[in-house]
Amino acid sequence: MPDSSLHFSRDLAMMTLVAISAALAALLSQSTIKPPALEFIKIGADSTAFNATATLIVGKSEVLLWDAQMKPADAARVADAIAATGKKLQAIVISHPDHDHYEGVPILKARFPGVPVYMTQAARDYYVAHVKQPAFMPDVLPSTKLTVDGVKLELIPDLAGDVIQPVNSVLWIPSMRVLLASDIAFQEVHLWLGSSDANSRAQWRASIARLRKLGPRVVIAGHKRDINAPDSPDVLAATDRYLTDFDSLRATAADAPTLRSAILKQFPSYAVARLVGAGAMAAFRPAGSK
Ligand SMILES: [Zn+2]
Repeated sequence: MPDSSLHFSRDLAMMTLVAISAALAALLSQSTIKPPALEFIKIGADSTAFNATATLIVGKSEVLLWDAQMKPADAARVADAIAATGKKLQAIVISHPDHDHYEGVPILKARFPGVPVYMTQAARDYYVAHVKQPAFMPDVLPSTKLTVDGVKLELIPDLAGDVIQPVNSVLWIPSMRVLLASDIAFQEVHLWLGSSDANSRAQWRASIARLRKLGPRVVIAGHKRDINAPDSPDVLAATDRYLTDFDSLRATAADAPTLRSAILKQFPSYAVARLVGAGAMAAFRPAGSK
């Protein structure tokens, strides 16, 4: 049946042509796609600095630093990374007043004299109340609306996370659907629960629910076991699961050491196991005590 085979091959040729033009169109549109408006450079730390993360938000000519690391050597790596961009460091924003995220600030201030260091009002109040001899004094963040080379960033303040009061903030870049979650999200690192109670853990879960509703495409956690691991939004669900598991294990554990063992068994691969004991102790503290 030569006729039908001819038709068949003609159809095939048409299909091939369609496929080729589709591929060509894709190729052409690819070449006209603009590069991402901002680049995110993460600098991690090992378990001696709790696997904390700092993130450079890099635009065409400006850089904003989100968290500052803890140990001098790690802060120096952050400073080197900023210098390597060849761009201007606009400001350092500290997500929440926990020392593993701000103790590197003096190193960065020495390297970038005059750079402003910001916390939200609530975070700064907490910092002032709890840090006896502060090595630096942050300014109050003047606005939650920030920009890097014209790209809008939105700081969401006063969220509950790993501090017992709602003083955590996150940075949300709506145009890119990127969320810098800081210590609302932990990626395969045990959550810091030494400054928590049942209420603050419930509020933390509410923060996670709120952030998930934003529909982020990328979520950079405040602690990462592996700094190069993908920044999947799944980390929000994983952090929520950890909190749920913690509270259900708390409900059946007889005491803090039992809870500690149960958590370690539940999350065997997570980093910074040495902090789990403090979280278990906090969970057995009488209500109202600190
Ligand atoms: Zn932290």
